[in-house]
Amino acid sequence: MRKFKTESKKLLDLMINSIYTNKEIFLRELISNASDAVDKLYFRSLTDSEIKISKDDLAILVSFDKAARTITVSDNGIGMTKDELDRNLGTIAHSDSLEFKSENSETQGEDIDIIGQFGVGFYSGFMVASKVKVISRAYGSDEAYSWESDGVEGYTIKEAERESHGTDVVLVLKEDTDEENYDGYLSEYKLKSLIKRYSNYVRYPVQMEVEKT
Ligand code: ADP
Ligand code: MG
Repeated sequence: MRKFKTESKKLLDLMINSIYTNKEIFLRELISNASDAVDKLYFRSLTDSEIKISKDDLAILVSFDKAARTITVSDNGIGMTKDELDRNLGTIAHSDSLEFKSENSETQGEDIDIIGQFGVGFYSGFMVASKVKVISRAYGSDEAYSWESDGVEGYTIKEAERESHGTDVVLVLKEDTDEENYDGYLSEYKLKSLIKRYSNYVRYPVQMEVEKT
């Protein structure tokens, strides 16, 4: 197992034991990452004639599996190599929000939308998931890797299979508690309404797969 960097661990703790109640923004963060990944590939295709990709081929797919209690956000963007999985998902990009948070810890609990404001990114998945698995294949590579973590100490990276370039982020939702209804996310209606509310501006089509039974 590889360990999270200290600051990443701090942020993870903060989010999981959450001062932050607006957990549903996780979907916005994952879709925004998918959109960035698709953008990166698209822009590369504009300057590299070897890359035969048209904008119409690029999309983001949100799906869920009620029995397995998973939500998956997939894209056919640039993907990540093994090193990139390690680098990009092992450290948090926005340590700014952490510093802000600790400087303002007095006001904690009040209505300041810290995470929303800074865009806390990938780790927000751990607000609703007990396990996050990322399967990715970098554009131009024929190898795929999976990154997996319970969001506590660290993560593992293994060889995996993926048909084509891009990334799948799979959230295994936490068990429901008295306060939280995580299973509530496992519905077409709920996911669609979150996509509408938070990701309406995304420049690529966000598709939804209908319920698996
Ligand atoms: P940010 O998006 O602000 O850079 P995140 O925490 O959301 O921060 O994501 C961290 C990094 O992980 C991204 O910068 C990107 O390099 C990588 N990443 C996350 N999701 C994907 C994805 N779907 N495809 C490719 N790279 C990704
Ligand atoms: Mg992001």
